[in-house]
Formats: sequence, structure tokens, C-alpha cells
Amino acid sequence: MKRAAIIGAGPSGFYAADQLLKAEFEVDMYDALHTPFGLVRFGVAPDHPKIKSVTRVYEKTAQHPGFRFFGGVRLGEHVTRCELLERYHAVVYAYGTMTDNRLGIPGEDRPGSHSATEFVAWYNGHPDYADRRFDLDRERAVVIGNGNVAIDLARMLMLAPDELASTDTADHALGALRAASVTDVVLLGRRGPAEAAFTNPELRELGALARTDVLVDPAQLDGVAEPDDATRRRNLEILRDYACRTPGGRTHRIELRFLRSPLEVLGDGEDGRVRGLRVAINRLVTAADGRMRAEPTGEEETIECGLVLRSIGYRGVPVEGIPFDERRGLIRNEGGRVCDDDGPCRGEYAAGWIKRGPSGVIGTNKKCSADTVARLLADADADKLGDPAAPDDAGVLEWLDARVPGLVTWAGWQAIDAYERSLGEPAGRPRVKLVRPEQLIEVGRAEAKKCTCK
Ligand code: NAP
Repeated sequence: MKRAAIIGAGPSGFYAADQLLKAEFEVDMYDALHTPFGLVRFGVAPDHPKIKSVTRVYEKTAQHPGFRFFGGVRLGEHVTRCELLERYHAVVYAYGTMTDNRLGIPGEDRPGSHSATEFVAWYNGHPDYADRRFDLDRERAVVIGNGNVAIDLARMLMLAPDELASTDTADHALGALRAASVTDVVLLGRRGPAEAAFTNPELRELGALARTDVLVDPAQLDGVAEPDDATRRRNLEILRDYACRTPGGRTHRIELRFLRSPLEVLGDGEDGRVRGLRVAINRLVTAADGRMRAEPTGEEETIECGLVLRSIGYRGVPVEGIPFDERRGLIRNEGGRVCDDDGPCRGEYAAGWIKRGPSGVIGTNKKCSADTVARLLADADADKLGDPAAPDDAGVLEWLDARVPGLVTWAGWQAIDAYERSLGEPAGRPRVKLVRPEQLIEVGRAEAKKCTCK
């Protein structure tokens, strides 16, 4: 029996697990956190429960007798890459892109200027971010970036308390968002309306927010050529619709402002907290590769605001010993085979965002993982997998239990899940998330003591 370790219990990890189990591998899935599902739990916006229901597919995978989950195990801290390679024929890295791109402009780290990574993880109850504080006692926020994460941020700031009340937004964030004074969000794109990376349902959803008018200056759409791409063409139609609307006098507003690149986050007061954003006004030029590129016109403007959230894409974090492409912020790989200067590294694979970059929707990871697993299985056929010294599963649980104080198994996660759901039920919420590692361990371990089979 061949054995694989998958590092990361998000969508790409689960799709890889499913495909490997079907190929009769035994699969141990590891996650640094005590809970599975990665970005489905900590990335997908709380008001998108339908998207989160994909976890039912992953739960089915976890029922397979060849599957085990080990939560609370940090690669590089509790276990090393070499120790995994000693125990498994294949190790699949599916741990995602955990940090964010930086703008590299003055004032980026002022109080009141934050990354999407922080804000999203905070409202979603990621334990590492539960104690972050965001000063939402400001009227205007600027969200930098024109992707779906930027839309999520803008929407979460604008949702009315009763729209948030039925979600699984972390309790600490629910309280802060309810009390927030933010009434205006400027969504800032460095390129034009036809280049925005939004998808159609997400852009359309902004127009359906109960207390928020969506503002688009019609002049920004003048002379914009029809894009070839259907999503972008439809985006343009939605933006035209917004531009034609007469504001309904709602209490809150989201303004989409294009062709603006951040130059400096301005601050004042003793702590230098954010008071505005200085931006360059751009024009579009066609680059050598045919893409539209933003070029500064030389004109500038300042947008007064008290909060800046930058949402300009995520990047991976290097892990000791695993070849890393610094420029792209990804594991060095060819089609999912991890590679160093000498070619493929035997028994090591990558899947999901840490393989291809932070793009696509959850389902995109299914194909991405399938491509990786196809190569892994071809290597198995060619006898090119790893050659572990201890290839049987005896002792893995004891090995981990001895070095990971808060190890949570699948049975432990099921106990956490049931407990969170029971907390949410009286308020009609899907769950109330536990955000403290000690709480998660307490609930998860109590169950694991009863059953250590998974
Ligand atoms: P994204 O779609 O790649 O968007 C990143 C945005 O940041 C782009 O508008 C990009 O502009 C801009 N940007 C990059 N560098 C910049 C800079 N230096 N200055 C100003 N702007 C800059 O990334 P994302 O929003 O983080 O989303 C990641 C993936 O998750 C996407 O595939 C997204 O669709 C997906 N997602 C899906 C959902 C959903 O389905 N509901 C929700 C959230 C996320 P340029 O185009 O000019 O580079």
C-alpha cells in the first residue's frame, strides 16, 4: 500500500486526497490549524454560505477508511519535510498562499492601513488574527484592488447588522462591524473598468446591498472598448447599469473609481494614523504582450479616508527545504512536481494556490489537484516515488501525539463542528466559530480521547 501525506486541508488538499484514495493510496492530511477546510472556513465571506457548502464533498472524502486528519501540526515546527519523506511515498504540499502582496509605498504600515489577509482572517475567526484590532470608527475606507477579495471587503463593511446577524462571522468581528462608523467605501482600480478582475455575480451583488448605493461616474465608462472576454464584457454592462442609477439616498455608498494607483498612505496625529491616500491618475496603454497597462498621466489626487485595506493578491511563504520561486511567491514546480536545480524532487508535489498562484474559484482546484495527482500516479507506475524508511502507518499517531500538544483528529474536528453548530443554532446562525486554540483543542481532544481511530 502506498502512503501519501497532504499538507493543507483546504480545497486543493481535499481534491488531491479524494483522487489518491480512489487510486488506493492511504492518505494522512495535515493542517497547521486545528480545523480543516482552509480558505472555505477562513477565506470565503460569511454571507456566502452556499459556497461554503462545498465542505459536504470534503466530508465525504474524509469518511474513506484510508483517510486520517491531523490538525494543529505545523510543518517546519512540529514536523519537518525530511521526517515526512521518511514516512510517506509522496508528500503533496497544498498549504496555499498565506501572505499578501505589498504595495511598496510610503505609509503602507501606518495604523489604519491593513492587508486583506488580516481583515479577512479576522472577520472569519482565524485564531492567529482573533486579537487584531481595526479602528472602524471612521467614515470612509479605501479598498485597493479590483478582484473578488476587494469586493468581499467592501461588502463586509457595508452589510447591515441584520444581514450579518445570520452569518458565521466571528463574534468579535460581528460586534465591531455592527458598531462601525464606515459609511463610504471607495473601491480603487489601477486599470480601467474593462480590466477589473471581478466576476459577474460578485459585482452584481454589490447593487443588491440593502443600505448601500453603488456609485460609478459615467465619465469613467466613456470610450471604453468592448472587451473580447465575456466576463469582462458583462462586468462592463453591470457597471453601466450602476452608472445610470440615481442614488437612492441610502445611508451607505460604495464608489468604484478606476485608473488610480496608490502613491502614499497619508497620516497625521501623534500615531500617524491614516488620514488619506495620495493616488496617481493613470491612462491605459497597450503593452508589448498586448495587455492593457496603467501608465501615470502625471496628475494626482488625494482621497480622504481613515481606513485603507489593500487587496492586491496573495503570495506564498517559503518553508525550509522546499524549493521556492521568490519572484512568483510559489513552490518551484513543473505541473505539480516539486523541482530544484537538479530537476524533480522525488516524492514531492504541489497543488492549489501554492502551485499555480492565487487564482480561480474553489472548483478550479479540482482540476489543479487532478493534474498533480496524475503526475504522482505516473511516477508511482514508473517507480519514481519517494523511498521512505518507515513506510507503514504504525506509530504515526503516537509520533505526532508525542510532539504536537494540541493534535486534533477527524473525530476531534467533528466534535468541534457539532459544538460550533449547537452554539449557532439558537440564533439561526450556521455556527459560532471557536477562535481560541485552547478552546478548539479542549473540544477536539475530549472527543479524540473517546475514539482515536481517525
Ligand atoms: P485578483 O483577482 O488577482 O485581483 C487582484 C487585484 O489587485 C487586481 O485588480 C490587480 O490589478 C490589483 N493589483 C495587483 N497589484 C496591484 C498594485 N500594485 N496596485 C494596485 N492594484 C494592484 O486577486 P484576489 O481578489 O485576491 O482574488 C484571488 C482569487 O480568489 C481570484 O481568482 C478570485 O476570483 C478568487 N475569489 C473568488 C471569490 C468568489 O468566487 N466569490 C471571492 C474571493 C476571491 P491588475 O489587474 O491591474 O493586476
